[in-house]
Amino acid sequence: MMSSAEIIPKRKWQYPLAIEREYAKYLAAYIDKEAAVIESFLPEMAASVYRNRIRVDGFGDWLGNLVDKIQRKVSKAVSAVPVLGRVFGQVDKHVAHEMSATMDSVYGRKPRNNTMPRELEMLQTIWTSQNLTLIKSVDQQLMDKVRFALSQKVISATDKEKTIAELTQEIQDITGAAKKRATLIAVDQVGKLHSQLTQYRQKAMGIERYMWRTMRDSRVRMEHRARDGNIYEWNNPPSGGHPGMAIRCRCTADPVLDTGKFALVPKRNSFIYLPEDGTIKPDRVLASSEKIPRVFEPNGVIDSVNAKGHVYRTFYGADGIMVRQIHSDDHGNPKHHPYGEHGEHTHDYVWNSDGTKQVDRRADNLTPQERKENGDLLWWQRKK
Ligand SMILES: [Zn+2]
Ligand SMILES: [Zn+2]
Repeated sequence: MMSSAEIIPKRKWQYPLAIEREYAKYLAAYIDKEAAVIESFLPEMAASVYRNRIRVDGFGDWLGNLVDKIQRKVSKAVSAVPVLGRVFGQVDKHVAHEMSATMDSVYGRKPRNNTMPRELEMLQTIWTSQNLTLIKSVDQQLMDKVRFALSQKVISATDKEKTIAELTQEIQDITGAAKKRATLIAVDQVGKLHSQLTQYRQKAMGIERYMWRTMRDSRVRMEHRARDGNIYEWNNPPSGGHPGMAIRCRCTADPVLDTGKFALVPKRNSFIYLPEDGTIKPDRVLASSEKIPRVFEPNGVIDSVNAKGHVYRTFYGADGIMVRQIHSDDHGNPKHHPYGEHGEHTHDYVWNSDGTKQVDRRADNLTPQERKENGDLLWWQRKK
């Protein structure tokens, strides 16, 4: 039985990408429905514009009335309330699953998942009302733009047919922009909710600290890349908040488990120790003659050794596709690799949508965290 120690599960906490996509899709469809209602008013809009184009005095009235009428019909046709309940439930279920799967991966069983119902309820109330406000602001902006387009037409309207054609195009542009905004909101809000519920579940389990984890792909912001592998306290968030709180952040928090807290023995090979042994270990080592595969295990790590005996390390993403490499020298070409102390550098891989074609492969310096985690690659520092 090990005495009290702090360990990190090897199993990576999963980000709820599928739920994020579903919510984004739903909000896009919500705007589509809204657009269809607005477009059904096109003949009436054009007729009103045409009829009122000279009568400047009654301007505000008819336009206000028409916009109100459209808005009433829109709010009858669409409601975001049901989906908010569903998305909250899905993210909550996802986080509860991650919590118990994490404990299962380390202890071979799931300690009781404590819950604090009142706190959960409060999180739901706040998240739901924030989302309703955000969606309402998209609706409002959309209607404001429609109103503006109509008032412009009163000034510049030519014939009815042309007015309808122009308004159709303008409304499509307006709803297209609203759709983009709604999608961004969905993605961002799932990330924020996932962050809050992760904090809630981990704290309920008695976990006070976590290791910051990024997706290790090219979309990770530099500031978060530098945090990858750092330890933070739930009660003391770093600037910008816990993982997932920054706009569109997909970073996650791997729990730091205090083995003294659970009357269970961790399984061999299921965890790493903190912080002394917080270095990365490869899942496979290839000889210099072997080809580094494009696809490997999800979140896998492959080391390969070149002719000089220098180790290169390749990282794979959650989908098993190569995302990053650390090259521990300048490939004998210092001119093209003006990095680090001995040319050591990273490559970020960017793939096309199905991951079959490489779109970009940019080089960069190692972050301080990468130097720490991959210290064994820095061959000139190795003890003889
Ligand atoms: Zn992030
Ligand atoms: Zn290279």
